[in-house]
Amino acid sequence: MYIGRFAPSPTGPLHMGSLLAAVISYFDAKAHQGQWLVRIEDIDPPREQPGAADAILTTLEAHGLEWDGPVVYQSQRQAAYQDAIEQLRSQDAIYPCQCSRKQLAEYQQQSGSYPHPEHCIQSLDLKQPYALRARPGQYQYQDLYQGTQQGIDGHFVVKRRDQLFAYQLAVVVDDHAQQISHVIRGHDLLDSTPKQLLLYQALGFEPPQFGHFPVIVGENGQKLSKQNFAPAIDDSCAINNLQQVFRYLGFTIPDTHNLEELLDSGCKQWQRGLPAMIQQQAIQQTF
Ligand code: GLU
Ligand code: ZN
Repeated sequence: MYIGRFAPSPTGPLHMGSLLAAVISYFDAKAHQGQWLVRIEDIDPPREQPGAADAILTTLEAHGLEWDGPVVYQSQRQAAYQDAIEQLRSQDAIYPCQCSRKQLAEYQQQSGSYPHPEHCIQSLDLKQPYALRARPGQYQYQDLYQGTQQGIDGHFVVKRRDQLFAYQLAVVVDDHAQQISHVIRGHDLLDSTPKQLLLYQALGFEPPQFGHFPVIVGENGQKLSKQNFAPAIDDSCAINNLQQVFRYLGFTIPDTHNLEELLDSGCKQWQRGLPAMIQQQAIQQTF
């Protein structure tokens, strides 16, 4: 059974890059007769923009991207994340750390690789706030679009010093709880997958299949993002926006102004075989 998802962080409205992510995960789910879930990843309040979660859902609706089941909000899932922390702790899969970002960067520069500094363990004072980090381990997996990926990863934060749960932890706990079978997302998250796989291993969860498609980059080579001033999607131009997504995918644009027909054509074209562009890391923005 295929269950896919789109999991935006409500740091701002959707832009063309995130709309592409929504549409590709939707096409892949529908092409497999699967479900497509939406999860709002609102676990980092300082980075959130008021109203962004609603704006994202409105944009999805305006583009005919109907999700299955209720929307899950990560802000409501703290207890599940804490349970996972306890489980990881009991397996000794995580360790406390009081290094500052600066200390770690300096240490990394000196030692080249990234073993955790010994002094951190020796000078630990558990009465002071600390972060929890994952112990390193090996991973290997077959990315649906990027081929075999393997290596060693670890030392990433699972719970922050300010007590907020990290994205890497929350996403694994939720993808498992929602029985996600396919995580189809942008290449900008390829680096996160090894970390998530280590958590799947430590928690004894079966990992989903992963596929990372190219992100849209602007003239400066940077991915479209709020920080890069990517314009917000205009909901009143849904047909045009979807046609633009078709162009990025190299799809034929059907002669229709009906959302449902347009999306249906997209699913069928997706089903015929992966567009060549999917294996790239980045595609140039075109307007
Ligand atoms: N919430 C993450 C983001 O917007 C994506 C999560 C995911 O697809 O795994 O960047
Ligand atoms: Zn440390």
